[in-house]
Amino acid sequence: MVILKTTNELQKMRKAGKITAQALELGGAAVKPGITTGELDRIMRQFILSKGAKPSFLGFGGFPKSACISVNDEVIHGIPGKRVLREGDIVSIDIGAYIDGYHGDSAATFAVGTISDEAARLMAATRESLMEAIAVAQPGKRLGDIGAAVQNYVTERGFSVVREYVGHGVGHDMHEEPEVPNYGKAGHGVRLIPGMVIAIEPMINAGTAAIYVKKDKWTVATRDGKPSAHFEHTVAITSDGPVILTKS
Ligand code: MG
Ligand code: MG
Repeated sequence: MVILKTTNELQKMRKAGKITAQALELGGAAVKPGITTGELDRIMRQFILSKGAKPSFLGFGGFPKSACISVNDEVIHGIPGKRVLREGDIVSIDIGAYIDGYHGDSAATFAVGTISDEAARLMAATRESLMEAIAVAQPGKRLGDIGAAVQNYVTERGFSVVREYVGHGVGHDMHEEPEVPNYGKAGHGVRLIPGMVIAIEPMINAGTAAIYVKKDKWTVATRDGKPSAHFEHTVAITSDGPVILTKS
């Protein structure tokens, strides 16, 4: 069941979203050659706690850290730790904050120093496909319009959509209905109505769409070893159009 949010609840979700966005911005600003993914996680966790919020992912399904940090061929769910970032890497940070009963959820991929043209184009296309999808998230449109917006944008540029993982509703629970795929048919699927809050999160591969889960049972990586990018916003559907809640 899709849970619609009241104006009062949306106000609370704005607060969770803002803390999430600020944490992601802080983590992204700390990305540089030589830093470990564990240190990025620590910086964001401390910030979230300093705001009186809780990191949404910490302990979620047994996840051991506050952020998911995925490097290069890693798509999502990377576990922060001793890995040192190097010049030319791309690093996807996914973070959520929970406060006053509601979650925010946001992700972005950052460049570590100078990166390859392919990685730069992949990052730009993934970010832009998210913005295209948000633009169509109007009342009366359908989930298929969102999926098609992402899929068309990235496939036209030679990239591929990860299908096994999708966006989702967000609210009191971090993962609520509906599922929000990054592929689909325009004009099909659940109709968007004011009060819905969804996380739209394209996970886009430079090579083929095939993925696997690493031995740590969390990290999702590309089969062909080519890079992957991930951008995500928590978006409220309102009568005035889409509102990004995870804006700092
Ligand atoms: Mg996320
Ligand atoms: Mg999400």
